[in-house]
This record gives sequence, C-alpha cells and structure tokens, in this order.
Amino acid sequence: MKVNAIAEAITAAPAVNQRAPDMSAAPALDGLDRPLRDLRLSVIDQCNFRCTYCMPRDVFDANYRFLNASERLSFDEMMKLVRAFVALGVEKIRITGGEPLLRRGLESFIEKLAGLTSLSGTPLDIALTTNGALLAARARGLRDAGLARVTVSLDALDDAIFRRMSDVDIPVARILDGIEQAQAVGLAPVKVNAVIERGVNDNQIRPLVRHFMNTGIAVRFIEFMDVGGAAGWSNATVLSARDMRAIVESEFPLLAPHDAVESSTSVNYRLANGQGTVGFIASVSQPFCGKCSRARVSADGQLYTCLFAKQGADLKPWLGDAVSTEQLIEAIQTRWHARDDHYSELNADRRRSGQRKTWPTVRMSLVGG
Ligand code: SAM
Ligand code: SF4
Ligand code: SF4
Repeated sequence: MKVNAIAEAITAAPAVNQRAPDMSAAPALDGLDRPLRDLRLSVIDQCNFRCTYCMPRDVFDANYRFLNASERLSFDEMMKLVRAFVALGVEKIRITGGEPLLRRGLESFIEKLAGLTSLSGTPLDIALTTNGALLAARARGLRDAGLARVTVSLDALDDAIFRRMSDVDIPVARILDGIEQAQAVGLAPVKVNAVIERGVNDNQIRPLVRHFMNTGIAVRFIEFMDVGGAAGWSNATVLSARDMRAIVESEFPLLAPHDAVESSTSVNYRLANGQGTVGFIASVSQPFCGKCSRARVSADGQLYTCLFAKQGADLKPWLGDAVSTEQLIEAIQTRWHARDDHYSELNADRRRSGQRKTWPTVRMSLVGG
C-alpha cells in the first residue's frame, strides 16, 4: 500500500496481521494529559453559504476546487473511523462541514452511528452543526435516524445583516423555521451559535437573547477567530466574551455560570428574569486549550488535532479493508499521544506582544469549527 509522507508521520505503514494494541486501558491521553473525548467529523467541504468569516466568496468562487465525491470518505470508511475513535474514549461525535446537510445519505449514516456505544457503555452522543437553511425539511428524518441534538449557526435576526454575513439570499425566517422544526420533532437541546464581529453584528446580541429567551433554546456567542478563511480578521474586530456579556447584561441580568462540563467550550449563564441560557465562547480572549479534548477529521480523512494546525495526518491508508480497525486505533493513538497543541494560548501570548499569527491554518469549512 502506498503511504504518503504525512501518514508516515503518524506511525509506520499499516501492515497486515499487526499485533492489536491493548485497548483495555483508560482513554488515550495526549502529550499534555488531555483525554480524547470529542470527535468533530466533517462530512463535506462544500457549503450553500459564503459566510465572510469562513468562506469568503472571492476565495470560494466558481474556480475553487472542492473535494470531489471520490476524494471524500465514504460512510463505510467513516464508520470504521468512528469505531476506532470510540475505542480510544470518544463519547461525543459532532457532524459538521462545510454544510453537513449537503451530504447525501446523511440520515442513513446517522442511523449506523446511533448503534454505537461508548467505552463507558452509554450510547454515543451524536450532534450536528448546521447553518439551518435545509433543516426544516430534514429535522424529522434526522431525529428518526437517531440524531440527539442540533446546533444551528445564526449570526443575526436582522435580514440585511444576516445576508451580509452569510453572503447568500436566504431570509432569516428560513433558519428560524429550521430551528422551530428541530424543536418540534424533539431534537434536544437545540442550541444557537452566533459569531460576533465588532461593528458588524454586535447590535444583534440583545435581539438574539430576546428572541430565544423562554423558548428552551440556548444562545451562545462566539468570539471571532483568526482561523482558516477568516477574511478581515484583526484584533479590532474581536468583541471579547467579557464585552459581549456586558452588552447582554445591560438588558438581561445574568446569574452565575452553571453546568461547567469539563470539556465544554462555553461558559453558560442563566437569565435572571426569564427562562433561558446564554453562553459565551471565549476562544480568543480566554483560550481553553488546557481542557481541549477534541479531534477533527476532515471530509477527506485528514486528522487535525487542533483548529490552528497547519497540516493534518492522512488516515486514509488505514481505512481500507486490508487494514484492521486495531491498526487504525493504534495509528490514531500514536498521533494523539504526540499531541501538544495549544495554539490559542500561544496566539494570546503573541497578541499581547503585538504580533499576529503568521502561519496559515486549515480552513474552517474543511474541518468544521
Ligand atoms: N456550516 C455549518 C455551520 O455553519 O453551522 C457547520 C460548519 S461551520 C465551519 C461551524 C462553526 O464554525 C459555525 O458555527 C461557524 O459560525 C463557526 N466559524 C466559522 N468561522 C469562524 C471564525 N472565523 N470564528 C469563529 N467561528 C467561526
Ligand atoms: Fe458555511 Fe458554516 Fe462556513 Fe458559514 S460557517 S460558510 S455556513 S461552513
Ligand atoms: Fe484545542 Fe487547538 Fe483550540 Fe487550543 S487552539 S482549544 S488546542 S483546537
């Protein structure tokens, strides 16, 4: 089997009849003692939106070369991959993209995933991140297939701002319809994520809180990150989680943080005068690398151990039938053991000394945020 240079960096080329690793031990720990708990699996690199902070249209134009179908992992290959990750301690899998609802047959893949059990014996926690444009028609089928919950990205309630940021001619009402359908069919929880860019949609923070309070839908505000296709990023465009919280609290008093799940990326508050949760994801101002338990696999089978990685490790040579799942497990385990990524922390240090990140990072639309 031909193994490319990146694959060789993971471990030696897969050989048939290789000894199986001892998987009876605790979940895999990386070089900084962080367990492997979450897998973000990108099922497609294409998207029906052109969010300016992710897939700016001048880069992702008609000439942009997306993966073709034969370059994307098949669902069978993804199943093998997920089984290996589960054997290493993964309990939660988030399906993402690009726009995951553009991948044909997603429901049948979810159905197979739903049959898997985590190492601790609980069913695998399956989540989906979507821009919501196709959600209304698909929500029931996704739920029937075994999807537990969904996160919908929605950056504005104002149509003009939403169109400017997503760079598509789709009304906010269509996304809201998707969110309502998801809730109506029983996907739970349904969460809404909004990336906030200073001076672009910071005036949408309070309307979003107002709209979703008392609905059972949690809203989370994300700091604008200098990743992948983030066009026009600069320090000045980042509105810190602290400032976002101050904007929320100017109208909606918040109660102390709650449900501090160890690997959670957001700090969540309850509304004091109403039902609801508001969260803040301070990836830039307060990096949470120390508890980062996420691995990402792109739609073409590259393993990224950090959102700011320059390069992935090619898992494709381990996904064919001639290579056992045990060998794949060992390849991933080797890569995870070697992981010492903590780029957001390094970036924070750099910014404090007036420098900007200089390396090109993987595109968000390839690894799915
Ligand atoms: N298309 C789906 C969606 O938008 O939900 C899934 C993929 S998208 C890459 C996943 C998440 O990444 C979205 O919530 C999006 O807002 C976030 N994201 C993309 N670029 C970002 C950036 N530069 N800073 C912060 N979040 C970003
Ligand atoms: Fe598409 Fe999601 Fe990126 Fe927007 S954030 S361009 S919806 S992948
Ligand atoms: Fe995890 Fe990398 Fe983000 Fe740090 S910068 S939280 S290691 S993905």
